[in-house]
Amino acid sequence: MPLCPMRQMLEEARKGGYGVGAYNVNNMEQIQAILAAAKETRSPVIIQASRGALEYSNLIYLKHLMLAAVEENPDIPIVLHLDHGPDLKLCKEAIALGFTSVMIDGSIDYDKKTPDGKHPARSFEDNIRVTKEVADYAHARGVSVEGELGTLGGIEDETHADEVLLTDPDEVEEFCKRTRVDALALAIGTSHGAYKFKHEPVLAMDLVTECRKRAPDTNFVMHGSSSVPQELVAEVNKYGGKLPGAMGVPIPSIQEAVKRGIQKINVDTDGRLVVTAAIRKVFVEKPSEFDPRKYLGPARDALEKLIASKMRDFGTAGHAGDYQAKSLESMKTFYAKQKR
Ligand SMILES: [Zn+2]
Repeated sequence: MPLCPMRQMLEEARKGGYGVGAYNVNNMEQIQAILAAAKETRSPVIIQASRGALEYSNLIYLKHLMLAAVEENPDIPIVLHLDHGPDLKLCKEAIALGFTSVMIDGSIDYDKKTPDGKHPARSFEDNIRVTKEVADYAHARGVSVEGELGTLGGIEDETHADEVLLTDPDEVEEFCKRTRVDALALAIGTSHGAYKFKHEPVLAMDLVTECRKRAPDTNFVMHGSSSVPQELVAEVNKYGGKLPGAMGVPIPSIQEAVKRGIQKINVDTDGRLVVTAAIRKVFVEKPSEFDPRKYLGPARDALEKLIASKMRDFGTAGHAGDYQAKSLESMKTFYAKQKR
């Protein structure tokens, strides 16, 4: 199967009433683990790379690792997605690399920084302007686009908003109409990173329901949706880590959000935690071990197990064979017609 456009994958999820996880990758072991989980559970999957991941892997390495994943798994619909594209330039680079989807995060201004290193929020009009610019460019090439309205708390690579603003449902309809984004990230109270909340979070579920009414044909995305399982945090700390009070979004909250209209669920932190726990365990239990395969291997296995359980929890499992991926050419025609 060729790479899948994200619009198609999320529309299928919307029709089927399930969520699709979008998992961040930086290296070979993560990509292998995520694809092994997708194969095992028969799940469509979104693998996403942030600007930091592309820089870390010098772009070309990650591209070829992702393409290897596609070649090795012809029966799994796979989307290659750019996470938090800061501007048109990086979105263009990702599209040139063969990504089938890009996020343009117009909610904050990546060119500006406050003295403490955070990015200020953009105005509604400014967000529309940068998002539409990317959507026009991407759609002309059949590539899907995700935008963001409202800002999230927490920190993830370069993404650090100056203030947390929940999505205003009154803006959703106009934003989707004017930008023609295929997917929209909603800020409903989730947060990036491991230190999301001091207590179990209360998400603005009614916001999802309200936004779903305002834009029935747009696919919605939840960022910062790692669950930060306490047993994983304990495992990291047991083997010499120091992660005090990390907390995330419980699985039942994610399932409720999916029921109300979320299609894409971004997960990064949980993958980092499980990999760190597995590597720390080997280092502590076998201090004489110095073959990287002997600790990266167990980390890969642990990540596969974690992602497979998410695929079951999000309802993605079993849906890999539901449809044939559309070509970017056919998406190009679709967008051209839509524009007229
Ligand atoms: Zn995010």
